[in-house]
Amino acid sequence: MKEQNQDKAQLAQLTQKVKETRLALDALKEDKNAKLQTLLNFFHHLSLACKGQNLELDNKLAKLRRQLTGFESLEESLPELVEVERLLKRQYNLMSRELEDGRNDLTRMTQQIQRFKFAPDQLKKEINYLRQELSKPLHSVWDYIPKVEKLVGFYEELVDSQIENNTEFAVEPRYQQLGRELACMMEDIDFPANQTDRMLVLKEQLRGEVSPEELLEAYQTVLSQLLENIALEKNASREFLFALNDALTAVQAVVVDSSESHHRHREVKSRLNDSINGCVADMGQSVSEINDLTQLKEQVTHQLSEIKDALARKEALEQREQAMMQKSMDTMQKELGELSREASSYKERLFEQQKLNQLDPLTQLPNRAALEEKLEQSYHHFQRTGLSAWIAVVDIDHFKSVNDTFGHSTGDKTLQVIAMALKSALRETEFVARYGGEEFVLLIPDVSEEIIGVVLNRVREKIKSIPFKFKNQRITVTVSIGAAQMSLKETVQETFDRADVALYQAKNTTRDKVVVDV
Ligand code: GH3
Ligand code: MG
Ligand code: MG
Repeated sequence: MKEQNQDKAQLAQLTQKVKETRLALDALKEDKNAKLQTLLNFFHHLSLACKGQNLELDNKLAKLRRQLTGFESLEESLPELVEVERLLKRQYNLMSRELEDGRNDLTRMTQQIQRFKFAPDQLKKEINYLRQELSKPLHSVWDYIPKVEKLVGFYEELVDSQIENNTEFAVEPRYQQLGRELACMMEDIDFPANQTDRMLVLKEQLRGEVSPEELLEAYQTVLSQLLENIALEKNASREFLFALNDALTAVQAVVVDSSESHHRHREVKSRLNDSINGCVADMGQSVSEINDLTQLKEQVTHQLSEIKDALARKEALEQREQAMMQKSMDTMQKELGELSREASSYKERLFEQQKLNQLDPLTQLPNRAALEEKLEQSYHHFQRTGLSAWIAVVDIDHFKSVNDTFGHSTGDKTLQVIAMALKSALRETEFVARYGGEEFVLLIPDVSEEIIGVVLNRVREKIKSIPFKFKNQRITVTVSIGAAQMSLKETVQETFDRADVALYQAKNTTRDKVVVDV
């Protein structure tokens, strides 16, 4: 009876547990379905956002939207999902290629438009800025559209100016344009002091009217100067390597020499020690064997003088050894001193050259090449230490209107002032570079999300408070900033792109704003 009761109680307990488990399972299922529904809604909207790029993809996505209504339909839609994934990948690659093609087309068109004679100077400059902008990769169609709009605007302006001045459309010959491009390229080459005058004359000539023969000659001159400079550089490196080799050979000779003489001296010293020991032993024997005191005295005196001689020879040997050692050390030190002088002058030259190649001529800030190097370094540092960094892209608001209203040289001065302000707003450990045009990039070491907002808003306020005065008019220049933090889940380029997208958000809302991507 008692056992029966126990069994009953156990059964009741088990039934209760089963009930509870079933309830928990139901709750879990419900939660899973709710999450899946969120995912399906997300898919629904994302697929709508993709619409209009590719008809096949649109149709497949529309079918999936109809099919995917709940958890049960997921299983049977799996093959379609795989197919859509393949199409999406293909679409992504296609788009990247098309963007690149688009960028090349736009570059070609800006080259074309640059050939129009009689284009206003202002317009020529704007076209040049657009060409510089086009040297950066385009990340999305949204990057592409404003550039196309600009280009169309340039054509419009050109047509207007031709109609206004009643001039014929005249196009410069291609070689004339190539000449100007060569002059531009020469700006970026660091020619040695003895060649600068000649290169200046050549640049002036290339900016004017040149014939095809003159252009060819100019190319040849530049090329031969470059080859000459490369040969000079090669020679300098070779000389340095020879000097290094000589110094190492000399040091090696000194080491071999001193080791050999050390061996010789050791042998002589051991012979001297033997003879001293022999004399001392002889003396001991004489003392025990000779009974005659006078004879003993004579013998001891003789042996003592032999010991004295041997000791004097040993002393002289040691002194010689020391002197030789000193001489070897001096030679080695001299060789090494010369080598280190040579190495540091070589290093200095390399450093100077590197610095010149990495400075933006207008603002004296590190340029884009320097920025890319710094970003890589910073990312490696992050991988090693886990200390992340923030990338912030700063873009001046409505900068084109500064150029349009007050001229490009005022625009250039504004860029210089803003560059200085950015530099002084940052700490030693922070970094700023001119990315191109009116865009700058900041690299700020690991800080929290709140702090980065404070730091960047401080920078934004600082620029805004600069008292610019153009043509007696007080002007406020503002900047928009987008920032993102490096993450191990992405490449440094992807972080940069996130910062760029954040900048677009700032531009699309109010401008004069900081947006931090989190
Ligand atoms: P937004 O607020 O959308 O950034 O407007 P914005 O006018 O600043 O931007 P947009 O990209 O339309 O134009 C950038 C302008 O920057 C084009 C050109 O007039 C100017 N610019 C680019 N590089 C230089 C430069 O080296 N010197 C000068 N003076 N102006 C430059
Ligand atoms: Mg810009
Ligand atoms: Mg701008």
